[in-house]
Amino acid sequence: MKSYRIALIPGDGIGKEVVPAGRQVLEALAGTESGFQMEFESFDWGGDAYRKHGEMMPANGLDALRGKDAILFGSAGDPDIPDHITLWGLRLKICQGLDQYANVRPTRILPGIDAPLKRCRPEDLNWVIVRENTEGEYSGAGGRVHQGFPIEVATDLSVMTRAGVERIQRYAFKLAQSRPRKLLTVVTKSNAQRHAMVMWDDVAREVAKDFPDVACDKEMVDAMTARMVNRPASLDTIVATNLHADILSDLAAALAGSLGIGPTANINPERVYPSMFEPIHGSAFDIMGKGIANPVGTFWTAAMMLDHLGEAAAAARLMQAVEQVTANPALHTRDLGGTATTAQVTEAVCAAITSSRPLATA
Ligand code: NAD
Ligand code: MN
Repeated sequence: MKSYRIALIPGDGIGKEVVPAGRQVLEALAGTESGFQMEFESFDWGGDAYRKHGEMMPANGLDALRGKDAILFGSAGDPDIPDHITLWGLRLKICQGLDQYANVRPTRILPGIDAPLKRCRPEDLNWVIVRENTEGEYSGAGGRVHQGFPIEVATDLSVMTRAGVERIQRYAFKLAQSRPRKLLTVVTKSNAQRHAMVMWDDVAREVAKDFPDVACDKEMVDAMTARMVNRPASLDTIVATNLHADILSDLAAALAGSLGIGPTANINPERVYPSMFEPIHGSAFDIMGKGIANPVGTFWTAAMMLDHLGEAAAAARLMQAVEQVTANPALHTRDLGGTATTAQVTEAVCAAITSSRPLATA
């Protein structure tokens, strides 16, 4: 029987609640006749490690991850530690260190979810946002000079390489090609940012030639926010820079009902390194420790992980169980207007998995 080595990094805040929930549904799934096993190893990296050792993760932490088949991640972010330290010390260190350059964020309105847009039917909103995940505005290049003095200067340098731009756009074109509508929207801001963003447009035009069956259009990021709200059905696959797609994907998750539902995959497409899967949300300080975090984002994320591992039937079975549960308002957590707890939703998804019949293998 196939066995997958999965690293679990719950991290901080509600990450510590939703990652164990994710493990529970994966175990339920592997325990059915899915034909595979999962070997979990948990890493207690994050804010607590920082308080103890002065580091979010050990210096050689990436070595422990390289041999894994995939990583399930919760969140980095602690109320008592500055956000740039927690984010750079853990999540960005892993994404950049394992060259997970494609951040993939699907959005759909799941059954039973009351999404905020008035005239948007569930079939009108079915998107995948592809975010460049290793450079651009979050390259980390820059610094502070004359720190603390009135003449202080601070820079965050956006670094766009042609290779980096081309590989993310190729990934997005391929993904668009694999979806029924074969439609890609390239988001930039090439009117105001006249160097790197113009290069994005140039590269898009060149890469598009290799994908003649994909319809490709272009949108400025500011206009894109309005289009997402006013004409959601006009979009399918979307590609954008690290910063732009970060913002657009939170908007997308909110338009689909809640930040607690959205999944994310940080993919190393060449599979030289393991890819990392995480819910789109952060540590949610306001609700951490209360047992009311919505675990659905982590479950959907786990389904993306299974797909990546080549377990499409198990992934479909998991999503079917998740959708069966979201369809029941009695099983909605507080972010969806309900009163269900993390544990109740998790148990309901596990029960739906166990009582479901295995789907035909794809
Ligand atoms: P957040 O996603 O943690 O929370 C935003 C709001 O959404 C909060 O009101 C929260 O209660 C709600 N929410 C989020 N996930 C939920 C869930 N699963 N169920 C129910 N409600 C949910 O974003 P924030 O407040 O901007 O950030 C808090 C911390 O998390 C910061 O330290 C930030 O840097 C970090 N963060 C980390 C990541 C990551 O590691 N990938 C992503 C985003 C934010
Ligand atoms: Mn974000």
